[in-house]
Amino acid sequence: MQPLRFVPKAERLAAKQAVRERTVIRLPDYDQVKNNPSFYAHASRVFHLESNPGKARALRQAHGERDVWLNPPPIPLSTPDMDAVYDLPYARAPHPSYGDAKIPAWEMIRFSINIMRGCFGGCTFCSITEHEGRIIQSRSEDSVIREIEAIRDKTPGFTGIISDLGGPTANMYRMACKSKKIETACRRPSCVFPDVCDNMSTDHTPLIHMYRRARAVPGVKKILISSGLRYDLAVRSPEYVKELVQHHVGGYLKIAPEHTEPGPLSKMMKPGMGAYDRFKDMFEAASKAVGKKQYLIPYFIAAHPGTTDEDMMNLALWLKKNDFRLDQVQTFLPTPMALATTMYHTEKNPLKKVLGGKGESVPVVRQGRTRRLHKAFLRYHDADNWPLLREALKEMGREDLIGNSKKHLIPLYQPAGTGKQPEGTRTPRTEGGRGKSGTSKPGTRPTTASQSGQRKPGQAKQAQPPRSQGNPGKPSAGKPAPESRGRPAQVPKHPLSQRRGGGKTR
Ligand code: SF4
Repeated sequence: MQPLRFVPKAERLAAKQAVRERTVIRLPDYDQVKNNPSFYAHASRVFHLESNPGKARALRQAHGERDVWLNPPPIPLSTPDMDAVYDLPYARAPHPSYGDAKIPAWEMIRFSINIMRGCFGGCTFCSITEHEGRIIQSRSEDSVIREIEAIRDKTPGFTGIISDLGGPTANMYRMACKSKKIETACRRPSCVFPDVCDNMSTDHTPLIHMYRRARAVPGVKKILISSGLRYDLAVRSPEYVKELVQHHVGGYLKIAPEHTEPGPLSKMMKPGMGAYDRFKDMFEAASKAVGKKQYLIPYFIAAHPGTTDEDMMNLALWLKKNDFRLDQVQTFLPTPMALATTMYHTEKNPLKKVLGGKGESVPVVRQGRTRRLHKAFLRYHDADNWPLLREALKEMGREDLIGNSKKHLIPLYQPAGTGKQPEGTRTPRTEGGRGKSGTSKPGTRPTTASQSGQRKPGQAKQAQPPRSQGNPGKPSAGKPAPESRGRPAQVPKHPLSQRRGGGKTR
């Protein structure tokens, strides 16, 4: 007989954790996942639930006779580790095999600095979290300043402008859960959805301090912030918004509401438009205070899983009401490992339980007329889209939006020579540039290099920025036209590249 012993809570939890560390989760077999969308969605859900390095277990999946073993994500790098990585003696130049070739990707990043890794946003269309983790890994301020000095001293062509001081999200620098213990145990896929978690520290002070120090580096004329900004975090720090808007915006600031409607936003795990409106007010007030004319460029995604025709129509009405005319738009494209990709493939919502008859269905638009229609709503002002939009609005019982006054979305008349090509189809690109996109239309101003921005790996393609309606002085768009898609003809293939078929990116 053994005496009864009361085990303290800490000891019980430690024992539980020890068991957890030796536990492996078996995912549905490869064949099950391949043949059954519910199993695919369930496997994806488990994979994302096991993404916290402090708590994640190894995953195992049978592939025929063998098993594939997936280790838990690595422990995030500490600041000294990050500094050690970024302090390595990089050449800061393209591989010599490229010779004098002009490399668009290099032009975009040569004066840009990564201050951190990771993102706790959890946007479902993006796989940054899967690549870099959701715990922010920040460099020290000294390390960032050293890199600015290295660019100034070693990078040819530096004119005093740092094109970005950012990362996966520009303003998550040094942000973290207030409690290490809670963070280790947390299984939430996002720290900011449906609202910013009470445990998240949203202090922007370290970032403000870094911006100020960076601006004071001799030889630096301007520091731009081109990485995407999390405006629901920014509105919590009026001082940060002021600092950003008054010193680091080159006329335009990209932000990504991605949609206006609760349906698609809930599938994207993005905040509602309330935070956008608050940020817009702060942005405009800060710009006005220093006498600058600056513009917000909101990005939107068409045909994201969970988007209905009605959602897109409401988005178009919002665009019209807010005087935005998007030059170029992109519809949703699935990216590897992202949760939205699971929705796209399975038409099920992996954010909720999938098995046991509890699954939630997600409407998905993959191709054909509806996909073209969703894209057409984003470009409601393009006459080529009006026949399709007229037809769809009639089917939706919204003829009231067709007419020739300002309150209507599209007009009754069709200008000669427009609306002839199948609506929403792509115009073939010309060699070395864009085809007949919105930028070639009369009244559209060309974009400039200073408006450039970089799409982070894993992020879904974005709608391009707006052109103001009825305000010719207002700039048209944020991103410059790429010289061509994929590898330009003059860029030789890298000798180590394994890719076949001419090096096209898509
Ligand atoms: S408790 Fe909140 S802030 Fe902390 S890791 Fe979880 S979601 Fe993020």
